[in-house]
Amino acid sequence: TAASLVATMAACGSSEKTTDKEAGSGDTAGALVGITMPTRSSERWIADGDNLKKQLEGLGYKVDLQYAEDNIPTQTQQLDNQITKGAKLLIIASIDGTAITTQLENAKANNIPVIAYDRLIRDSPNVDYYATFDNFKVGVQQATSLLTGLKVLNADGSAGTAKGPLNVELFAGSPDDNNATFFFNGAMSVLQPQIDKGTIVVKSGQTKFDTVATLRWDPATAQKRMENLLTSTYKGGTKVDGVLSPYDGISIGILSALKSSGYGTGAQPYPIVTGQDAEVASVKSIIAGEQYSTIYKDTRQLAKVTGEMADAVLKGQTPTTNNNKDYDNGKKVVPSQLLESIIVDKSNYQKELVDSGYYTADQLK
Ligand code: BGC
Repeated sequence: TAASLVATMAACGSSEKTTDKEAGSGDTAGALVGITMPTRSSERWIADGDNLKKQLEGLGYKVDLQYAEDNIPTQTQQLDNQITKGAKLLIIASIDGTAITTQLENAKANNIPVIAYDRLIRDSPNVDYYATFDNFKVGVQQATSLLTGLKVLNADGSAGTAKGPLNVELFAGSPDDNNATFFFNGAMSVLQPQIDKGTIVVKSGQTKFDTVATLRWDPATAQKRMENLLTSTYKGGTKVDGVLSPYDGISIGILSALKSSGYGTGAQPYPIVTGQDAEVASVKSIIAGEQYSTIYKDTRQLAKVTGEMADAVLKGQTPTTNNNKDYDNGKKVVPSQLLESIIVDKSNYQKELVDSGYYTADQLK
């Protein structure tokens, strides 16, 4: 809520001082900004890159935008190139948040400030700022929506009609992406009390992050794991009632495993399956009554605040941040700007995604 955001901002100090006075000084009008994105295999990163590029070009900067197709050496090479080409600032959505330390040292040596985009860069002191969503809260929202779909909770958060025990399986994102842990911990903060009460049961017993994580957020890997669960834990005809999925691509993999196993019919409807990113295919799936929900993160907003942050840093000013406590990367607490996400399901996709102009109605047909 606005009130809690204001409270958070007050608690954290609404703007944090840069520790490096050198960063961004000098003549930076029209400077080159390097943007590195993880992959084109998920729409959101394409939109992120396009929006950021537009925003920065609108502010008069030159932009070098690169995608690495989830290949770490490709991303490190792209960063090396951008530094060689004379970039004055780097905006990085990392693949593995610990794999670019050398590049960051090089950036530092060349007085190039670094903004971590969406994903925290870990184990390096050479990260100046971080722009992202409230990642713990994304996980809270995923689990809340799962419980609402299961009728364990009502929409207003009060106890629902379902008393359980309901069978739920858990999936998490890539272990090398700091966000994945935040999403999972946020979700478990909501699910653990229900597990303790016995309302929901993780029948496979697989509840540890490392066991349920999905390397590189790969849909096929998630599909395989779901198939394995269905032919082992659920082979006797026991039904899966809900699946915590951290990302729309993973949800698609999970749903196809369920479909092959006979779910998705009138007699055996799909379990409640969550997601993230409001990607077109998944919103269509939600409209069709397959996937239950997704978490909508307005990437236009993230690009906007990141562009403003970059502009401020390049002008030697202190950018706006609203959190300086939650994102410790192992070497420093990185001053962060957090945005809010929204739970989207069949009941509100029109308002949140179409009326807001994020998608046209035609895109969702
Ligand atoms: C992002 C999510 C996205 C995931 C997979 C995470 O770092 O925050 O929005 O679903 O990566 O691309």
